[in-house]
Amino acid sequence: MADTEEADKHCGKYLCRTGNVANLCRFCMCPTQKSDDPRREDDLKNWKNIRQLLKKKDHDALQAMSQKHLDDNAWYRMRFGQLTDG
Ligand SMILES: [Zn+2]
Repeated sequence: MADTEEADKHCGKYLCRTGNVANLCRFCMCPTQKSDDPRREDDLKNWKNIRQLLKKKDHDALQAMSQKHLDDNAWYRMRFGQLTDG
């Protein structure tokens, strides 16, 4: 279990939640300026995509999704039973 701040740290997501960050949400790509619309259906963030960007050292793409550059996030190697897709 984790609160929002802890979960953001585990995911490597920016902790800042001002209008200057691209994404407030750690689950989806909803732009901050559109996050007041509960009917939006944006692409989901996932560890495979983030790991690809990390391998490519694509800092611009990571910043565009408010994601820190963590070279070796231990959570990416964790498996949680049948629910893990990797
Ligand atoms: Zn979201």
